[in-house]
Amino acid sequence: METPKTNRPLSEIWQCVRDRLRADVGDAAFNSWLKQLELTNIHDGRVLMSVPTRFMRDWVVSHYAEKIRVAWSDESGSEPQIDILVRPSGQAAQVLKDTSGEPVRERPVDQGLAEAGAPLDPRFTFDNFVVGKANELAYAAARRVAEVETVPFNPLYLYGGVGLGKTHLMHAIAWHIRERDPTRRVIYLSAEKFMYQFIRALRFKDVMQFKELFRSVDVLMVDDVQFISGKDSTQEEFFHTFNALVDQNRQVIISGDRSPSNLDGMEERMRSRLGWGLVADIHQTDYELRIGILQSKVQHMGAKNVPQQVLEFLAHRITSNVRELEGALTRVLAYSNLVGRPITLETTQEVLRDLLRANDRRITIEDIQKRVAEHYNIRISEMHSARRARAVARPRQVAMYLAKQLTTRSLPEIGRKFGGRDHTTVMHAVKRIDELRQNDNILSEDIDLLRRMLET
Ligand code: ADP
Ligand code: MG
Repeated sequence: METPKTNRPLSEIWQCVRDRLRADVGDAAFNSWLKQLELTNIHDGRVLMSVPTRFMRDWVVSHYAEKIRVAWSDESGSEPQIDILVRPSGQAAQVLKDTSGEPVRERPVDQGLAEAGAPLDPRFTFDNFVVGKANELAYAAARRVAEVETVPFNPLYLYGGVGLGKTHLMHAIAWHIRERDPTRRVIYLSAEKFMYQFIRALRFKDVMQFKELFRSVDVLMVDDVQFISGKDSTQEEFFHTFNALVDQNRQVIISGDRSPSNLDGMEERMRSRLGWGLVADIHQTDYELRIGILQSKVQHMGAKNVPQQVLEFLAHRITSNVRELEGALTRVLAYSNLVGRPITLETTQEVLRDLLRANDRRITIEDIQKRVAEHYNIRISEMHSARRARAVARPRQVAMYLAKQLTTRSLPEIGRKFGGRDHTTVMHAVKRIDELRQNDNILSEDIDLLRRMLET
């Protein structure tokens, strides 16, 4: 930013420009049209000013551009080009406002901050985050950081496998802080973007600006820090930025796919520094959390006709991560929507065949037969036998039911594995157990228990 040809502070010049304009156009017009005009930046010999709406911009440009130009050149002693822009909505309108009484420094403004950071996903809020055993510590830590004025732990380091909610939590923190106190300067970006910007700053000899920008924030969030590993100069810069902020008691929040000590390719001093605050890991989801997440998504999407059985099926079978779980649900909903058929267990299995294979923990029918036989204290050979006594027939049906639920085998394939039974027998067994489960709590619990044992 070039300073105008005078040593008066910019804030004072701007105040004088405003006073002149007010005197010139009168209070009423000033309040309607010029009061919200802000000095946004001075750059490449151009002065950028902004107003909140497009309509206001057009009006100001057509009615007051000349007066603004004259006032500016008289007060600043320079004759730059003046551009009037519409500032992005939600952006604090105080970019160069000088509340401390100091001259406004040539520092990168909030626009710089907005450009340097990454946009936040509006769905990633605390409200939309389902809490379970796997993520309760990370969630509690994130909430604390977002809610308190002080810096409770520095840094907050969140880690966990892909698709488990790290980015979601970081965005939630940023949303929450922005909402509560829009004047706090929060920047969220990926480690890759941090690197990219630093390298670009080096290339364009803009390193000072880069440093100032990143050292001027109140809250710095860097996502997927593992990507910084290995790139020496960026790592160095990241380390200094990090230290500068922590020293000034600014909040730093970092995420990674592994614990700080396991970040190979990261310098030892950085690894140790990352572990100084609170390290919170997000574990693999368990069944309850997956069900909770599915229910919450269904509710948010306003999809009413998803049978509980389908949700249970998805929660049992898509265990890799939440992103895939969401993807599976979306696919099932989209399919039923497009072809106009209701969602059933069958359509779900059909639509998700490939995904289910990938998630298949390779539970075999033999495993199921063995577990079920053990559980009901019958011989495994009864799974293949023709005996129809209730004491063996019921466990056999349970095993067929589990085979249908936990494997991708077709009904005829399952039938073959149960002593060469017909597929209609398997179908009947599945239906029967489904019905019985509704009223028989013991049976229902047995099945859940067996399922869990088979899945872990
Ligand atoms: P990560 O950054 O850990 O790879 P994300 O934060 O991108 O994972 O999460 C992947 C997807 O799963 C996102 O759409 C996110 O909203 C969703 N998600 C993850 N965990 C939860 C949760 N506990 N509740 C609701 N949605 C979740
Ligand atoms: Mg992420």
